[in-house]
Amino acid sequence: MMAISTFRSPNTVLANAVEDAVDVLRPRISDSDIENVSFSVGTQINGHPHLGTHLVQSLAFLLAERARDEFGLDTGVEFCALDNSPAETTNFDGRRYQRAYAHHLGADAISSLVARHYLPLFDACRARTNVPYTVTTYTRQQATPAFRAEFLRTLELLDEIGTWLSPNSGTAHIRLPCPECGWAEKYADRTRLLELDDAGGLFEAHCFEHGRHEADITPLGGGYVDLATLYRNVVKERSYRPGDRTLHVMVKGGDWAFGCQLVDGAHAVLGLPAGPLPVRIFTPQILGSDGGKLSKSLLREAADTGPAPDDTTPAWLLDPSAWPGTQEDYLEALTGLGELVLSDPRHFFRSYTTTALEHLMSTRRPATHDSQAKRPRTMPIYRQYFDLIAKGEKTVEVRVAYESMKRIRVGDLINFTCRESSCLTKVTRIGKYRTFGEMFGTERVEAVNPHATEAEQLEAIHAIFPPHKEALGVLTFEIERVDPR
Ligand SMILES: [Zn+2]
Repeated sequence: MMAISTFRSPNTVLANAVEDAVDVLRPRISDSDIENVSFSVGTQINGHPHLGTHLVQSLAFLLAERARDEFGLDTGVEFCALDNSPAETTNFDGRRYQRAYAHHLGADAISSLVARHYLPLFDACRARTNVPYTVTTYTRQQATPAFRAEFLRTLELLDEIGTWLSPNSGTAHIRLPCPECGWAEKYADRTRLLELDDAGGLFEAHCFEHGRHEADITPLGGGYVDLATLYRNVVKERSYRPGDRTLHVMVKGGDWAFGCQLVDGAHAVLGLPAGPLPVRIFTPQILGSDGGKLSKSLLREAADTGPAPDDTTPAWLLDPSAWPGTQEDYLEALTGLGELVLSDPRHFFRSYTTTALEHLMSTRRPATHDSQAKRPRTMPIYRQYFDLIAKGEKTVEVRVAYESMKRIRVGDLINFTCRESSCLTKVTRIGKYRTFGEMFGTERVEAVNPHATEAEQLEAIHAIFPPHKEALGVLTFEIERVDPR
């Protein structure tokens, strides 16, 4: 079995450029009046989620936690259930039609599907990270004036963006479901924009059963607008308001790194949007033994044909309900995996085979809560302080009382890291204070830093942590070095 301590990842272009995965946000945060960061994660609603889906979602929470602790900003997760994914398809007269889950199931069934497959994970992630989340659906998103107004703006250059969004046909897939039955042309071949002016966009579309229908799309209504994946992302990424002091981050599975080439082509055609474009973070892909992405279509094939598509793929990777333990264990192993992946950008900006994941998650599957507590926690630290800890001269580490810090207990292992170096320590005592000043009333100044006076240390600490961070409270960890054998 692969031991975590020997787990290595190769260097990659992006991993080489940053010290932490959330560093990719830093250029946008340091250079603006950003007050909070919203991590968006969208998931196609089509039956059982698989591990890849859950991994992207739990990473959204862990990234939000890390960004909050690193940048001192409020962060949250915005989950969008993409209920416009096709539930049924059919051919008629040589054309392909589809009906989305939203029309096939209805809003109530979508809600209960989300509650069953996703909310237990989100609630567990919120409890662990104290990152709040919201849930929406594509159906609600496309109904918002912001989304629809942005969609209407893209129509002025519909032919030009069509060559990016649908390079083969040049026709962007705008699906306007039949108001009678909810079926829509998959490739929108007979959907036409008839008029576009200040009154909105007037379309005609065809239903195989109910014939021609018109849709007069405005920011306020006019019918359901179902955009194919790339188009939806273009509109969604452009629909953020200028002046909201939020940095929007799209958390996407790694395969999007390729797809975004076309999204960016459409953005270039459309020019700069009114609001800021979001940042994208691509999460690790999960690959089968042949290097293909673990996918829901594989899962469906497996369901159709019986045996697993790949004998080496354990069932729980495709269907979390097959996990050989409690749901709590699964969530614990999943977030443990997420934390491992985030502990080093080399572990984050890469892909994993199902075999590697099976090892990693099994290794991290907690037998008891005790073994969980003994897993070292990685804590990056400035070089000056790192050297003092490594020499054993600094025995008290000071942190703002973020939720992630409050989870640390006496006896826990902390692995301090600074670039390539690391130093394993054990927590022997924890102190809690309202302010840094109050802390120095109890903690020995030379245990925090033997080379600076209390006044000098307070000046440095206040420069590093602004008042709104200090307001969260102060924690001290008395540590002793552990021989890392
Ligand atoms: Zn119809």
